[in-house]
Amino acid sequence: MALGKDYANQHCSIARALEVVGERWTLLVVRDAFYGVRRYNDFLVHLGAPRAVLAARLQSLVDVGVLDKRRYQEAPPRDEYVLTERGIRLWPVLRALGLWGREALPGTLPMRSFHHVACGTELAPAGDCPACGLAVPPADIEMRPGAGLDPDPADPVSRALLKPRRLLVPLELPPSESRRV
Ligand SMILES: [Zn+2]
Repeated sequence: MALGKDYANQHCSIARALEVVGERWTLLVVRDAFYGVRRYNDFLVHLGAPRAVLAARLQSLVDVGVLDKRRYQEAPPRDEYVLTERGIRLWPVLRALGLWGREALPGTLPMRSFHHVACGTELAPAGDCPACGLAVPPADIEMRPGAGLDPDPADPVSRALLKPRRLLVPLELPPSESRRV
């Protein structure tokens, strides 16, 4: 039997969530948005997704209210994509997937570690800061490069993500770098 295009007969909340984020590339777009990527060309160069697929994923994330599309330039028109509150609530999902991948899939090296901005302590698996005893929201998390990081020298986004940086802070690339796709 052919696979259906969606899970229309499923009322489970996992199935409903997968309707939103279960397509190939979608969660990686959301991941990059947490890292500060906002512009189509920057997603494109970092993900390497086909252009039409990336455009479709961005639009569907806007349609479901995970990303907000904002015009940042009029001539020529250019939009950027910013996580909404609904989108920011996906952070624990990404975090749990990353931890599961590291623990369950042999040979997976830590690409990045996540720390509480206020004190620098690495966050516990549940997302709280062991030193402060606080649940740390994404805006208060600093991402640091890990041992498994192997950036593509031709990709200015992956080079920019080599430095420790706070989640959700917009990634600013020199114009000559970010527009050459
Ligand atoms: Zn702390």
